[in-house]
Amino acid sequence: MNLFDVYPLFDIEIAKGIGCRTYDKQGIEYLDLYGGHAVISIGHSHPYYVQKLTHQLETLVFYSNSVINKLQVELAEKLGKASGYEDYSLFLVNSGAEANENALKLASFKNGRSKVIAFNKSFHGRTSAAVRVTNNSSIVAPINEGFEVDFFALGDVDAVRKSLQNNDVCAVIIEGIQGVGGIRVPDVEFLQALSDECKATGTILILDEVQSGYGRSGKFFAHQHAGIRPDIITVAKGMGNGFPIGGVLISPMFAASHGLLGTTFGGSHLACTAAIAVLDIIKVEHLMENAEKIGKYLMEELIKMPQIKEVRGLGLMIGMEFEQPVKEIRSRLLFEKKVFTGASETNTIRLLPPLCMSKNDADIFLVRFREVLQTTIFD
Ligand code: PLP
Repeated sequence: MNLFDVYPLFDIEIAKGIGCRTYDKQGIEYLDLYGGHAVISIGHSHPYYVQKLTHQLETLVFYSNSVINKLQVELAEKLGKASGYEDYSLFLVNSGAEANENALKLASFKNGRSKVIAFNKSFHGRTSAAVRVTNNSSIVAPINEGFEVDFFALGDVDAVRKSLQNNDVCAVIIEGIQGVGGIRVPDVEFLQALSDECKATGTILILDEVQSGYGRSGKFFAHQHAGIRPDIITVAKGMGNGFPIGGVLISPMFAASHGLLGTTFGGSHLACTAAIAVLDIIKVEHLMENAEKIGKYLMEELIKMPQIKEVRGLGLMIGMEFEQPVKEIRSRLLFEKKVFTGASETNTIRLLPPLCMSKNDADIFLVRFREVLQTTIFD
């Protein structure tokens, strides 16, 4: 059987990873500034994470959600403390798309409405039955349950206000920082206005922190830079450092009832073990503070580079927009300089390194990046 060929692949086989570095099967070392789509939060193969998962593998790998799983309780407690949302409840799933799908379901159960507002260039995931793509945006909405999605420009408060006026919008869904759409940070004032408008009209505010959460922005959640408290927050990616796990953080205004939501694998013993280890390491190694510090340093250095049109981001979620497509620069970085980066749209390089990235790692990257830029012919 062949693989269904949907991903353009680099001809590199990663065989090992340690911290902020990966190694291919010939032993060639790469600096990893992408972390497999923002997934690697505490670093590759962290010894504490490996030890915890190994122990769990030897003990119990899986049992269903029909019995008590103390690891879920421990994870919820630790996540509540780390994020400042101790009064919220946690529903565990396996991916970002699933987290958003459940968030939208909860919102519609709460207010009985079916219209959803999202933003241009947003990305909230893909599931087979429930994708709708408009204006380069992709949202998981249970369309079979009758959701209609409208897209507005990020920052256009007036359009959102007007649309919410009839008190018939179920939810507004927005990323803490747009990732796939080019690392765009919503203005603090915009997020605050959105929060106020949602409260005033009974609209559920869903903050998708799947990519921007888990300490990446320098705070646990990117929206915390705006001081707002959304009704629902979704997480995944960095939550398990590569082990698939996602979550929905749900405000106390939602009442749970048996059978309201459900999943077979969500919150499995192995997934919870991975997620607990991640939170322990983020705390003990002060990775949020590190993300803020190294991110600030990187951005200060990057804005000095004349070839870059704009540098955007917060913490270790950084976008560098160029006047022209970045394909060649990224390819040279990877094959000549052994640095993994990502891209958003055609003209933006996306950096999503592990949160343990050191100043030395940052300096190595800056040297290699300058060398590539200085020897690239720009039109
Ligand atoms: N939401 C955001 C902001 C994302 O960046 C992504 C994936 O890139 C998703 C949701 C979907 O997550 P998953 O691929 O785990 O379903």
